[in-house]
Amino acid sequence: MGERVIPLIDQRAAARWVPVPAFAPTGELLDARGRPLHDLRISVTDRCNFRCSYCMPKEVFDSRYQYLPHGDLLSFEEITRLARLFVARGVTKLRLTGGEPLLRKGIERLVGQLAALRTPGGEPLDITLTTNGALLARKAATLAAAGLRRVTVSLDGLQDEVFRRMNDVQFPVAEVLAGIEAAHAAGLAPVKVNMVVKRGTNEHEILPMARHFRGSGITLRFIEYMDVGATNGWRMDEVLPSAEVVRRLQAEFPLVALDPAAPGETAERWGHAGADGRHDPALGEVGVISSVTHAFCGGCSRARLSTDGRMYLCLFATQGYDLRALLRGGAGDEAIAGAIAALWQGRADRYSELRASLPADAEGGARRVEMSYIGG
Ligand code: SAM
Ligand code: SF4
Ligand code: SF4
Repeated sequence: MGERVIPLIDQRAAARWVPVPAFAPTGELLDARGRPLHDLRISVTDRCNFRCSYCMPKEVFDSRYQYLPHGDLLSFEEITRLARLFVARGVTKLRLTGGEPLLRKGIERLVGQLAALRTPGGEPLDITLTTNGALLARKAATLAAAGLRRVTVSLDGLQDEVFRRMNDVQFPVAEVLAGIEAAHAAGLAPVKVNMVVKRGTNEHEILPMARHFRGSGITLRFIEYMDVGATNGWRMDEVLPSAEVVRRLQAEFPLVALDPAAPGETAERWGHAGADGRHDPALGEVGVISSVTHAFCGGCSRARLSTDGRMYLCLFATQGYDLRALLRGGAGDEAIAGAIAALWQGRADRYSELRASLPADAEGGARRVEMSYIGG
């Protein structure tokens, strides 16, 4: 294996000043490629209790790593205010993420505040959360009571030894499985389980995972290992293409292709078929998310809010726009909502579509922000 090069550029400092337009754009908000703004992913902490090598490798995120100081984090009131303004401009779905969102103290209180928001049409929001599951058994019931609708749990294998190696902090798989059960029991349904597949590391867990979750009411999705951030030493030869995942699944289970559940959906859905060859809902479905081999930028309606309040227009962006400066500088709701709208209108990002044609740009990669900061 080649030597790991760990870049030293800390891109969190590179926030852009946000222009506030004199006249806020009105009407349906579309970006420069005609994509609406529907989803907001909010990173509530840049810290994590795991050290997954593809996200927060131990060599970089060690005891010397400088996490954001507490005063830099958006408060729950600031997050809720921004979320309300995003919702006023078309967002209907909020996803809390991180880092590990369940490490943020009082997260249930934030969920409660967000659950009280309504769309301009008076509808409640679809509020969900992505977690590594370590604290889920303890928190599932209170999160559901606070207004959380669903959860997605990341789980990269069932064999304890493989799982401990992937989280790199020796965390036992049994506790995450208990968290998934607790979420299911608390009605955070349908619980989704995301498995990042790394060729040569956990690909042998694909079929055991599919067997385990088939018929359980839990939807398993396989995610291609992505070149996010700048520290994971990503290599294309460690990506197992989704088409290969589906081929391996089909060798054991009859699967039928399903329609996307919603426009802009990232997962390609496959239903487990019953004896009649048709999808049997009791057996459930699996999904594949082909972020590398099959770009879905055309339907990408996601904005991201970093832990310290910067708006990112793409997971692979190298710079965010400093909404916190507006909040703390005393800007009014109209000015902030106008700035959000103007930034979205100028958005032309489509990194995954361009990935294959981009030169192997070591510097560009080094400038990318980490997923733990921007929110996965
Ligand atoms: N800590 C939480 C968790 O792991 O679910 C939330 C944050 S994590 C950054 C969000 C998701 O990003 C997880 O499902 C994780 O597996 C995924 N992820 C992180 N790095 C990735 C990479 N290099 N390629 C693909 N997915 C990745
Ligand atoms: Fe932590 Fe999630 Fe990143 Fe793993 S993927 S290191 S659990 S933030
Ligand atoms: Fe959206 Fe950027 Fe991912 Fe494309 S690469 S799907 S624009 S986040």
